Amino acid sequence: MGSLRTDSRDAAASAPAIELIDLAAQQRRIRPGLDAAIARVLDHGRYIMGPEVGELERQLAAFSGVKHAISCSSGTDALLMPLMALGIGPGDAVICPAFTYTATPEVAALIGATPVLAEIDPTTFNLDPSRLGEAIDTARKLGLTPRVVMAVDLFGQPADYDRIEAIAADHGLLVLCDAAQSFGAVYKGRRVGQIGRVTATSFFPAKPLGCYGDGGAVLTDDDGLAEALRSIRAHGKGGDKYDIVRIGINGRLDTLQAAILIEKLRIFPEEIKARNRLAERYSSGLAGAVATPAVHRGCESVWAQYTVRVAPERRDALARTLAGRGIPTAVYYPRTVAEQPAYRHFPVSSGGIAASTTVSREVLSLPMHPYLEDETADWIISSVRAALASVGAP
Ligand SMILES: *Cc1c(COP(=O)(O)O)cnc(C)c1O
Repeated sequence: MGSLRTDSRDAAASAPAIELIDLAAQQRRIRPGLDAAIARVLDHGRYIMGPEVGELERQLAAFSGVKHAISCSSGTDALLMPLMALGIGPGDAVICPAFTYTATPEVAALIGATPVLAEIDPTTFNLDPSRLGEAIDTARKLGLTPRVVMAVDLFGQPADYDRIEAIAADHGLLVLCDAAQSFGAVYKGRRVGQIGRVTATSFFPAKPLGCYGDGGAVLTDDDGLAEALRSIRAHGKGGDKYDIVRIGINGRLDTLQAAILIEKLRIFPEEIKARNRLAERYSSGLAGAVATPAVHRGCESVWAQYTVRVAPERRDALARTLAGRGIPTAVYYPRTVAEQPAYRHFPVSSGGIAASTTVSREVLSLPMHPYLEDETADWIISSVRAALASVGAP
């Protein structure tokens, strides 16, 4: 394998290891700014709700084109807090895709609501709007009140919101966007944050815009909701810290993480372009060899992951062969929510989730980050093609 690598990559012996997500390359680029930003926080010492938190919130709101950005402690809390603010609870159904990260249905279950697992479109990995109605019917037949559609923008691409919002409106549901992976993406002229009633995003280090710990934000144009979210984030405070008007959580973002995010946000637009260039290179290089991810017309993904599909019986062999060539891959996610032991008892949409299940057996994510060089991308492409030739066509 080493010799193959030497053939295709100049000076391969000294080439740095390929990373699935190269946070070190990004850090090298902005290290002086990060050091100065962190030093400013150490100097002023306002570690909780320091001035950087408000500054970041203004910048996130401006970037997304929304009225309010409420920073918080994680993407999970960014999903949980709107459900709390909207009074969702026992007896309510929250429609979630069956193929997503655990945090999506988790927050619904945490507040005592029932996540109802709906089918996805296997080409985009997002909720299939044509199957949403049956999930809503399933919830009603179970005696639940469908209240929320939690659409997930998996791997960085917004879900098909025009159709999802229309169906949600018909049934009186509100749309909560799980944009943990899609901050900065665009859906038909609307940037993430401007879609649905409220949007949650994550700044977990590996997300497209990540900090150096846990972090998240809620985006909304709704003044009343924003006020409730700021209260919930701080233990349900009212006019002052010791006036508690509702049950809340400790959901604040650290000042240090806000300072780091301000530095990273400066280069984020450029990074989104670089991610898109890499995705285009992969998609043209891999066409015909694997099922490449589809992007809706009028959408711009931020490519949290570049995820291809290969036949289930060949996926693991492909991953092993690539690993042997120094190319890391990952499977997001190897099981549907319905197959998780803790979630097995939650209802699945009556039409089933065959596509979600199939996709979980087929997905493989390739290295994706803004600092992956063309030469490395070409090496990955030729390695996938060669590996599939040796393990059989997809
Ligand atoms: C990462 C992620 C979350 C949770 O975000 P955290 O910041 O890790 O709490 C929620 N939903 C999806 C789809 C995610 O990818």
